Amino acid sequence: MPFVSSLQPVRGTHDLLFDDVRRHRLIEATAFEIAQRYGYGEIATPVFEFTDVFARTLGDTSDIVTKEMYTFETKGGESVTLRPEGTAGVARAFISGGLAQQTPLKFFYRGPMFRHERPQKGRQRQFQQIGVELLGVATPQADIEVIALADHILSSLALTGTVTLEINSLGDTESRVAYRDVLVKYLTDRQDMLSQESRDRLGRNPLRILDSKDPGDKEAVKDAPLFTDHLNVTSRDFFKTVQDGLAALGIACKVNPALVRGLDYYGHTAFEFTTDALGAQGTVLAGGRYDGLIKQMGGPPTAGIGWAAGVERLAMLLPELEIANRPIAVIPVSDAEAATANIIVSALRHAGFTVDIAFSGNMGKRMTRANKIKATTAIILGGDEVLENAATVRNLDAGAQDKVRQKDLVEYLRKTQP
Ligand code: ATP
Ligand code: MG
Repeated sequence: MPFVSSLQPVRGTHDLLFDDVRRHRLIEATAFEIAQRYGYGEIATPVFEFTDVFARTLGDTSDIVTKEMYTFETKGGESVTLRPEGTAGVARAFISGGLAQQTPLKFFYRGPMFRHERPQKGRQRQFQQIGVELLGVATPQADIEVIALADHILSSLALTGTVTLEINSLGDTESRVAYRDVLVKYLTDRQDMLSQESRDRLGRNPLRILDSKDPGDKEAVKDAPLFTDHLNVTSRDFFKTVQDGLAALGIACKVNPALVRGLDYYGHTAFEFTTDALGAQGTVLAGGRYDGLIKQMGGPPTAGIGWAAGVERLAMLLPELEIANRPIAVIPVSDAEAATANIIVSALRHAGFTVDIAFSGNMGKRMTRANKIKATTAIILGGDEVLENAATVRNLDAGAQDKVRQKDLVEYLRKTQP
């Protein structure tokens, strides 16, 4: 095998550089700044966990567990898995850290997730998520808050017109049991239309059939009974409170009865922010209430709700980035002025300016670089200037220039920089 082939990135992974990495950092920083205003503190859990943490929480019929996990055995013979999502690790941390007495707890997280799926636009094998979890609040106020937080972050990223909020209710346990029976009866009558996968799911996980992408499945569920028609009074009230709460905040949403989560520990609110702008990978942020999760993992019964968003998908939606922090370019005309240039550069950086120094090349090349990095100003140091303890300061937008004494540079720049 030629040596270089092993220097390719692994399929489904990407290097982030230039504007891409700036977009990622902007999204994460904006999200965290706003999450803090809502009282969410950061949690950073390990990138890998014992396989059980995911296998038990995500359910053994989910796509993630059956097909997508990066699982390996450690040298000590333990099975560990690179995290495919963030909630299971947060729930594990809540239990192993004995945090039950401290609820309500509000966590924000960010970081890489790993899923072995077919790479395509908006779908990588290593991708980045931001997310929040709110633990220990069983009332619809929590649902309203986490959705409002998601909406606030998306609007701060100027994505309000690009995304749509879809919402559904999966009811409480009683409603879910009742609806499941009705749905299974309905689908059993139409079994021959279903895909093999959905026929397998009929017994174990019938709700998942509702969001199947298979054409036969889609046809079969087209007129299926709706979850929202089978909610008991408690569940209906809960759902109404959430919808009214969002409306009162001016957050528009659309009820999507096909929006489901197949696992028993999910209930009440499920929601997604979707877009038409990314083709098939249209969900940018997805979340829901998971009151049964922590108990199922072996912890104390604890209500929970949260969401996660894919940073790559959000990054693709962002408008052109503005250049933040345009630098000042210090340009020694030749190597003879380099020592003086270093001292000036250091003084300006310590005074708080963003400063680039032109390391090498002739004057033309150094000026080209100053333009390329979108410098506001060039500080040119030739032999004459050095002898006079001065510098030529050229405004690269307006073209005008002044000769400034070196000791007055900071004051001069404070007055003239944008
Ligand atoms: P999809 O239907 O696109 O497979 P999902 O239901 O598997 O999404 P979640 O587990 O809800 O996704 O993850 C939340 C968000 O993380 C998604 O809405 C998406 O923005 C992002 N995401 C999920 N998987 C990937 C991936 N492989 N590559 C990039 N982003 C992803
Ligand atoms: Mg997926």
